Amino acid sequence: MIKRSKFRNNLFIYYFSVFLLFTLIIIGYLYQREKKFRIETLNDELLNLTRITNNYLIVNSVYEKRNYHIVDSLVQILPRDELRLTIVSPTGNVLYDSFINDWASMENHKDRPEIMESTFSDFGSKVRKSSSTGVDYYYYSKFYNKYYIRAAVVYDISVVNFLTAEKMFLVVIFFIFIIIWIVLQMVTNKFAESITKLKDFAVRVNHNEPIDQNIIFPKNELGIISEEIISIYKNLHKAKDELSVEKEKLFNHLNVLNEGIAFFSKNNDKILTNNLFIQYMNLISGELTLSSSNFFKISEFKPVLDFINTHKSREHKPNDYPGIDYQIAKNGKYFHVRCIWFHDETLEVILSDITNVETNRLIKQQMTSNIAHELKTPVSSIKGYIETLLANDNIEPAKQRYFLERALNQSDRLTQLISDISILNKIEEAGSNFNFERIKINEVICEVKDNFKSAIEVRKMNVLCDIKEEIYINGNRSLLLSVFQNLLENSINYAGENSIVKIRLIHEDENYYHFSFSDNGTGIPEEHMPRIFERFYRVDSGRSRKQGGTGLGLSIVKNAVLLHKGEISVKNAAGGGTEFIFSLHK
Ligand code: ADP
Repeated sequence: MIKRSKFRNNLFIYYFSVFLLFTLIIIGYLYQREKKFRIETLNDELLNLTRITNNYLIVNSVYEKRNYHIVDSLVQILPRDELRLTIVSPTGNVLYDSFINDWASMENHKDRPEIMESTFSDFGSKVRKSSSTGVDYYYYSKFYNKYYIRAAVVYDISVVNFLTAEKMFLVVIFFIFIIIWIVLQMVTNKFAESITKLKDFAVRVNHNEPIDQNIIFPKNELGIISEEIISIYKNLHKAKDELSVEKEKLFNHLNVLNEGIAFFSKNNDKILTNNLFIQYMNLISGELTLSSSNFFKISEFKPVLDFINTHKSREHKPNDYPGIDYQIAKNGKYFHVRCIWFHDETLEVILSDITNVETNRLIKQQMTSNIAHELKTPVSSIKGYIETLLANDNIEPAKQRYFLERALNQSDRLTQLISDISILNKIEEAGSNFNFERIKINEVICEVKDNFKSAIEVRKMNVLCDIKEEIYINGNRSLLLSVFQNLLENSINYAGENSIVKIRLIHEDENYYHFSFSDNGTGIPEEHMPRIFERFYRVDSGRSRKQGGTGLGLSIVKNAVLLHKGEISVKNAAGGGTEFIFSLHK
């Protein structure tokens, strides 16, 4: 959080820097003015001193007598401490120096800047460090026709001295500074509040911290602007929240769809996809990816790419949304691809798994052709017998009877076939229409045995049933009859003479009874077992037909068991023969 004092501190630093700069400029200006004034005063003073010295030299005829040492007595009475007086001849020889006794040995002074300057001007002056004392001196020289008189005093126009002298000025500056600061405080107070609050708000928003919902701003322009900014932010935030809720909803909707769906931008980049789309894409491409970005690289989707390329360059009417549909068959699965192209050049692709629909269609197609094939034989047999009878008037009665019996046989077969097809259709299309009730399984088996009593006796078969009286199934009576009837009929037809059929309850659990139905006949060759429950599948077609089999018996058994929420399997029994193991829900 930005503290209110930070804004104040910054303001103080800016203000103090500007004020300091301003003060230094004023002090600099005053110092220069003071310096100029002091030098002028110093020049006047030193001019007077050289004049006094010149008069003294003239009065005492020092130049003529060359007794310069008497100047010492003048120096002592002159009103200036530390005054250095030097007399230099026009050729630069030092004739006298109040600081040095042995002036005759001093070096030539002709090239001293102040001396040179005074040759051509009223006077010459120079500030220079004294080699003997190391202190800054102000040298002033004036030429009096026969000699130069040079006066030098300590030069002390320093800033410190100046500031010490101008104490009052500094105090005034300080007070002005304080007064302006107080006024500035008062003026910025209101603005600072708005700025600080706004800054605090911005920092919180940026750091995703909770914001104060009731920020109150001062009633000035900045306060109003701040309020407006916050209100715009809140509206934007609300709109963003609403948008993400809508997006979430849309995404959830897409994810529960039974279709894979994806939207792509005009540059073929993914905008949105649901999980099923990726799943179907993987199944179709045979590769594992978690992103839909590879969509356009998969060869199965090349028609989509071709479709986009042909439509990009075309003009489209406002309500015309071009699209393509096609199917893909891959690894036993079938997919339908639908693709719609929008005017903003975005693309919607829908992938649907139509495997069930397609396999059902293929099964139905197969079934219809099988039925036609199965019906053809009995129908053409009946037709043949009737045509023979009609065409030949003098057929012996015994032969006539034989033909009629064969025709009756074929029509029985036809009836059986139609009845089997109708049972299968009923189980498949309207399984829920079968009435379920409590059924004593023993009674069903007894009834089936009774139905085949003579066939069993003729073949000297033994049908053993080891199922207790109190076993009840929640099932449909006619379907359960069909199950045991078809199984027993098969044992009679394929296990044959002297065979033994055993019907047993082998296991019971919380929800199911598990039964075994076995015979000790020839059994079913291993390679046929996986397909034995398919419609019209027979191990030996000729034998099956001869026995009056339709090839639908085991199909009916399996579908009836499934309708009773059970399962069925077949295996060859240990001592030879066939064993069916199936479960039925209690
Ligand atoms: P079908 O009408 O031909 O009997 P199913 O569907 O009932 O048709 O039986 C399919 C095939 O399974 C039969 O053709 C037969 O070859 C074989 N099969 C069924 N049950 C037995 C069994 N108990 N012993 C030997 N083969 C059997």
